[in-house]
Amino acid sequence: MKLFKDILNGNISALSKGITLVESSLNKDKILANKLIKLCLTKSGKSIRIGITGIPGVGKSTFIETFGKYLTNIGKKVAVLTIDPSSEKTKGSILGDKSRMNQLAIDKNAFIRPSPNNGVLGGINDKTKESIVLCEAAGFEVIIIETVGSGQSEISASNLTDFLLLLVLSGAGDELQGIKRGIMEKADMVAITKSDGDNIQKALESSLNYKRALHFFNEKNNGWIPKVITCSAIKNTGIKNIYKTILEFDTKVSNSGWKNINRNQQKIYWLHSDIKNELGNKKYHEFVENGKIKFLEKKCLSGNTNFEIVSNI
Ligand code: GDP
Repeated sequence: MKLFKDILNGNISALSKGITLVESSLNKDKILANKLIKLCLTKSGKSIRIGITGIPGVGKSTFIETFGKYLTNIGKKVAVLTIDPSSEKTKGSILGDKSRMNQLAIDKNAFIRPSPNNGVLGGINDKTKESIVLCEAAGFEVIIIETVGSGQSEISASNLTDFLLLLVLSGAGDELQGIKRGIMEKADMVAITKSDGDNIQKALESSLNYKRALHFFNEKNNGWIPKVITCSAIKNTGIKNIYKTILEFDTKVSNSGWKNINRNQQKIYWLHSDIKNELGNKKYHEFVENGKIKFLEKKCLSGNTNFEIVSNI
């Protein structure tokens, strides 16, 4: 398949074309897309997948621009998949606008893909997981999934990534109240943004509050104790440290086997989700009750795509 070969060679326009194919809802495209995904799966998986989330205005795109440039400067290839739940209303992806990340957008070692949101799972494009596979096959070593929104989209982001970075603003003591408990529990790191100028002291105080708050959560099942850090994307501080911590995390969870276990659990999560979406809740519950779901899960973990599994039920 030529498209696959071109993607494997790191051809960016082939990668874009491949993702468009994967996102297509036309039946004839779905079959081709499945073929492409299967091929790419054999070359994927060797990356760090990082979810970055936070309220609008917290500084996500500025952060990703600085962080992404730091990574390409040290020789990494970085893919950024942005997901914008509000695009459903506007019929376009505002957050995906490449002009938000000017420097990164023209960096030959970076790939930025604004994803149209299909209204699935409150903000996550239902093909993001396949897009990740294509990016990895194209040689991207760091995959950033950017999400904004509340609740479900961030939780879904944590089902696509190895590491979840929550960006927050410093505030005057009661800032923790605005952050949903669910997302705090999922975060592997909380970064207080815009820690520059007059804001440095406030950011440090906030970091103490976050450290205290995180202390009350149970230990995460990956054995990782979430970290809190201050950073400034504009002054380029804290950025290197964030990546260093992510690498520490990656080494730890790779050695413990958790990274692999977690990715398998994520595959199962998306299999369940795809079955519900494609066949409906009633059928899904039937499979859970009669045990067929276990059989389908095995197929999923042995390399069958969700498309194949659902089509052959
Ligand atoms: P997003 O909506 O989360 O993507 O946030 P943006 O990256 O668009 O940033 C929102 C605003 O915060 C913009 O005006 C940025 O210039 C500003 N901003 C972002 N990062 C920093 C930072 O590190 N320091 C300061 N002082 N301002 C920042």
